[in-house]
Amino acid sequence: MIALPLLHEANLLGGLWLGYSASHHFSPEESNLLTTLAGQAAVAVANARLFETSEGGRQQLAAILTATPDAVIVTDSRLRILLLNPAAKDLFELPEEDIRGRRINEMIHHPQLAVALRASDERTSAHEIKLADGRTFSASTSSIFRQDGSIIGRLAVLRDVTDFKQLDRQKTDAIAAVSHDLKNPLSLMHGYATMLPMVGKLNVRQREFSKKIVVGVEQMSKLIEDVLDLQRIESILGSDWETHRFEELTQNVLEEARPTAIAKGIQLEYSLADEIRPVSGDESLLRRAIRHLIDNGVRYTKAGGTVRVHVDMRADDVVLSVTDNGVGISRADQDRLFERFYRVSGQQDGEYVGSGLGLTFVKSISERHGGRVWLESQLGQGSTFFLSLPASGGEGDQS
Ligand code: ADP
Repeated sequence: MIALPLLHEANLLGGLWLGYSASHHFSPEESNLLTTLAGQAAVAVANARLFETSEGGRQQLAAILTATPDAVIVTDSRLRILLLNPAAKDLFELPEEDIRGRRINEMIHHPQLAVALRASDERTSAHEIKLADGRTFSASTSSIFRQDGSIIGRLAVLRDVTDFKQLDRQKTDAIAAVSHDLKNPLSLMHGYATMLPMVGKLNVRQREFSKKIVVGVEQMSKLIEDVLDLQRIESILGSDWETHRFEELTQNVLEEARPTAIAKGIQLEYSLADEIRPVSGDESLLRRAIRHLIDNGVRYTKAGGTVRVHVDMRADDVVLSVTDNGVGISRADQDRLFERFYRVSGQQDGEYVGSGLGLTFVKSISERHGGRVWLESQLGQGSTFFLSLPASGGEGDQS
């Protein structure tokens, strides 16, 4: 008999043997032929195993993607569809046929999704997507990388958050109702506390106490106004939707903020790229978002610092960035900054006591305009807040 190993890339996969019942001498030709056969058999066995493994992996992945209730969409970097799971097909009522290779815009007519997929930053980012049937989805998008670091494409996972949104809305409504009812007693307290010095002579301590009452009541009133404003922003539907030159809006807002910056010893700088396309939206809301980002930059930067405001175009988006060299924000706080009432502790700036609602406003306003807001920051070094809005006439345009 002759026995040969089935070897593939130094792995022993098995053996091949051939035996004669009668005595036999194996010639060199025979043993060469058998060696070649053993080599080919080894390659065939290795390929079969490889296929089995990758097919097993593929089937497992397909089963997971089919079972997940979340819609999963994968596109290449030019937004051509690479993969859609059944939940995604159901969600957007797509045909059963193979639509791989088609542009996402052709198949799914949803500007916010296109905006979310187009956003080219490397970190995972979350976007809110509203469907015509009233459901709200939270889309988290990220880039998919090859081993060499180049981008293969984009991934979006959409989760139905309609129930959470409803709960959130009920919570906001309840807070708004209470806030509304607090307005009258507060204005009474404010009125009487301000009148105290007018109805009789107060000593120094009494004057100081009544001043503190007035300041406290004013802070509470401001918080209530913010809560009510937030509810207003979240309930209005494209009220005064018009086309605006975003860079002009920004410059106006910046000039309004300048006196405070000068008083605090902070330099305000403004720059813009060559051609900024207009954006469509509600002027007072847009101004409010820009103003809040600039005010925060000034607020959380020490005297002698600089706040740089820049307007740029990134693909079809107009992007405002506000960079300060102030206190900065830790990674853990960054993740929670846009939550309602969230404030970073130990960062109070003199007199100013915010409600922790400002950035929630900015986020609500950006989402209302089909845009988004995000930040980059390093504790102790400064922060950059970005506000991006789809340029008028682009895919994300809601006008
Ligand atoms: P507030 O109305 O209390 O200022 P915001 O929602 O605007 O609330 O901000 C939330 C928190 O984020 C603030 O309390 C502050 O700690 C932090 N923050 C906002 N902007 C900046 C910034 N440019 N630099 C450092 N911290 C900031």
